[in-house]
Amino acid sequence: MQLLIVEDEVKLALYLQKGLREEGFTVDVANDGVTGLEAASQHRYDLIVLDGMLPGLDGLAVLAALRQSQSTPVLMLTARGEVEDRVRGLRSGADDYLVKPFAFPELVARIQVLLRRASPPLAEVTVLRLADLEVDLIRRRVTRAGQRVDLTNKEFNLLTLLLRRQGAVLSRTELAAQVWGMNFDSETNIVDVAVRRLRNKLDQPFEQSLLHTVRGMGYVLEIRADA
Ligand code: CA
Repeated sequence: MQLLIVEDEVKLALYLQKGLREEGFTVDVANDGVTGLEAASQHRYDLIVLDGMLPGLDGLAVLAALRQSQSTPVLMLTARGEVEDRVRGLRSGADDYLVKPFAFPELVARIQVLLRRASPPLAEVTVLRLADLEVDLIRRRVTRAGQRVDLTNKEFNLLTLLLRRQGAVLSRTELAAQVWGMNFDSETNIVDVAVRRLRNKLDQPFEQSLLHTVRGMGYVLEIRADA
């Protein structure tokens, strides 16, 4: 997770950078609004910690400019008593704010909430599908048309790889490297044997074939109209 801190108090900025790095974040620092805005437009950060009072371009101006092009979560830092600024900050697109001085763990907690909100668990794909084929990556379970298909570990990995890149022809060399972790020796037919076994379990009992050979190139998993 990559964070940007825009804060003109150099000591505070370094303190936050150090602390957040210890929490496992990658952290860049900008000490004024213009530099911060430049950094944010050149690099996709997961979250920006933005001080309200900055020399030159202030926090709200930076925020307004940011919001024209990106929706990166922004946590504003405001001085105590700047109630109006806080309200304005949230209205102009900040996702949260923290009043200075704050306790460091409070900052970390707010950052984590914002990051979670920005990437809901929905984004994590745990089930892959193609036609009536379904692969549950967590339970390592494969079904076709609701029927359980029992695969060995290698067959499962092979299928998952083909399924993740469905429609793309994968060469024997690539499959050997990805699934068996070996630099392929063209004499060995380990991939072909595994594909044949996988096909027997996956396609043979069913009407529609999904795993196809592309002569001279490799294998592809896809729905074919003429199958
Ligand atoms: Ca400041």
